[in-house]
Amino acid sequence: MKLKFIILLFLGLILQACNAPDQNELKTYTANEGVIDLSDWHQEDNLIPLDGEWELYWKQLLEPNDFPSGSSISGGSVIDLPKIWDDHIVNGEALPNEGYATYRLKVSNATLSDVLGLQIPYMYSNYKLWVDDQLIAKNGQVGMDGSMSRPQKRPQVVYFSPKDNTFSITLQISNYHHIDGGILDPITLGSSQSINTSHVKDIAFQSILIGFLVLAGIYHLGLGFFRKVEPYFFYFGALCLVAAFRHLMVGDVFFTKIFPNVDWNFAVKLDYISLYSHVPLLAMVLYRLYPKESYRWFTITTIIFAITFSLLTILTQPRTFLLFEVYFHFFMILCVCYTMVVVVRSLKSKHEERYYLIIGIVLLMVTILLDIAVKFLRLPDVDLYPIGLVFLMICLSLVISRRLSNSLDLSKKLAYDLAQLNSGLEAQVEDRTKQLQQSNKKLEELNNKLKNMALIDGLTKIPNRRHFDEYFQEQYEICSKENIPLSILFLDIDYFKHYNDFYGHQKGDECLQQVVQELDKQIGALPNGLVARYGGEEFVCLIPKLSQAEVERIANDINHGIENLKIDHETSPISNYVTISIGQFTTNPNPYVDIDTFLKKADEALYQAKAAGRNQIVPVSSQVLLNENKDR
Ligand code: GH3
Ligand code: MG
Ligand code: MG
Repeated sequence: MKLKFIILLFLGLILQACNAPDQNELKTYTANEGVIDLSDWHQEDNLIPLDGEWELYWKQLLEPNDFPSGSSISGGSVIDLPKIWDDHIVNGEALPNEGYATYRLKVSNATLSDVLGLQIPYMYSNYKLWVDDQLIAKNGQVGMDGSMSRPQKRPQVVYFSPKDNTFSITLQISNYHHIDGGILDPITLGSSQSINTSHVKDIAFQSILIGFLVLAGIYHLGLGFFRKVEPYFFYFGALCLVAAFRHLMVGDVFFTKIFPNVDWNFAVKLDYISLYSHVPLLAMVLYRLYPKESYRWFTITTIIFAITFSLLTILTQPRTFLLFEVYFHFFMILCVCYTMVVVVRSLKSKHEERYYLIIGIVLLMVTILLDIAVKFLRLPDVDLYPIGLVFLMICLSLVISRRLSNSLDLSKKLAYDLAQLNSGLEAQVEDRTKQLQQSNKKLEELNNKLKNMALIDGLTKIPNRRHFDEYFQEQYEICSKENIPLSILFLDIDYFKHYNDFYGHQKGDECLQQVVQELDKQIGALPNGLVARYGGEEFVCLIPKLSQAEVERIANDINHGIENLKIDHETSPISNYVTISIGQFTTNPNPYVDIDTFLKKADEALYQAKAAGRNQIVPVSSQVLLNENKDR
């Protein structure tokens, strides 16, 4: 739908650019034998191209007063305008394009209700124009040789009021600078109002076109500058600006008005150099747009070609470089073919935007081919190529808008996905934290278990020797600081080997557990007291703060308590029940009694209890130590 609209708009603009006549303008008038009869012409309706047979006086520069009473004179022939000189055959031979001539046309029966106007096109390469005997337009210097004649490009609109409804137009043209001589585009007659309207329309159309190209140029240059990944924008922008510049230069509307006296050579050279520069720019756009489908070598060829032709233009006169213009047109046709090959190759790509681009490129190629065809057929000049560029620009803009809209959709979707992902992540983090806390708790429990395993005796479930050692160290320091007594009881079951041997190891274990229960009962209630298994059937109790006598009483209680458990011990030489021997050592920790001495003294006391017959307590106090020291 959009593509159809683009194509229709394109055709409309092409017709406008070609100045296609409207219904009122369809009635044509043609000059015959130097006379054009406008009997039924309504001035307000239409413009009349003064085409047809004009009188031609070759190699003569005549002025209105050379024609007595407005009639023709001898030595003239007839030329069918518009026509350049070397298309005009006289006696079987074409006229040369260098020379000078006078044209004359009698306009008869023109209704004179208004001031009249003439649209005079660019003629090669200078002219002078009279209506009756009034000189109304002049362009450059008409002369009989190259030195006397001066070229100028100055299409213009002139207004005049003829005295009579029949008047004659006298036109002198000379050419020594351009490769074509004479008139290529029609001279148009009309009422001043219709000529003016047509001129204003032309200005409006050209302004819009140039405005479009300049805006597109700046916009795409900017896009190319900021989006380096898509460099074709940059080349397309440059192309639009060059096209706008050239349209100003070549177009009849603006340049000649702004710089009416600009040097003709300079203007022509600028015109052609800007024309040549289009080719490599267009090839670069294509190359960047379809890097896989286009050919690098062809792009380079267009650059070399454009440079060569530009140098030729700069270094030679128009009469020389214009001779090569035809080769440029052939090369352009080749470029169009190349472009079509690239376009066909690009059709394979599945990219959605390809149709927009292809339509734009094809329309541009159509305008280029039309321009070239007009040149070859020597038809009145039209410049359709900028219209093609405007259409490629419209197609590119559609592509850009589409991409922009797609990327906006995409970024919206990505933002949504990201938000989803984030909320998912939060839940995940929370979940993981819970899991981590749980495993931390388990680890802590395991650690505690391990710690317990390292410090608790497996059979009796009371602290083991390592635990005792640590705790002893701690209590020793506390009691030492506070200067309070600390006691150790070393306990050993009497004749336990016998017990094991007689009752078995299993029973032995049970016996050990019963003894521990009793010990725990006695010591566990004391503040900071501790019972530990010291090894085998030996136990140790640590009792801080209490005096020797108090501890001795506790030791006695333990001794009796164990015996009162009445655990049978048939093989004990001293009792029917399991008994226990206890070595006690009590003192306030001081520098003379270190930890090892403490243990040693308690152990010695136990040894003494054993030696004294077992099942008894032997208390040793620090007094003993003092005595020992004294003895030494
Ligand atoms: P004494 O009166 O001189 O202390 O003689 P005793 O037999 O008690 O001492 P001895 O050191 O000769 O033997 C200790 C015995 O304790 C040896 C071993 O069979 C027993 N024993 C040590 N640990 C365990 C244990 O965990 N379970 C059992 N059932 N018996 C053990
Ligand atoms: Mg023992
Ligand atoms: Mg023992």
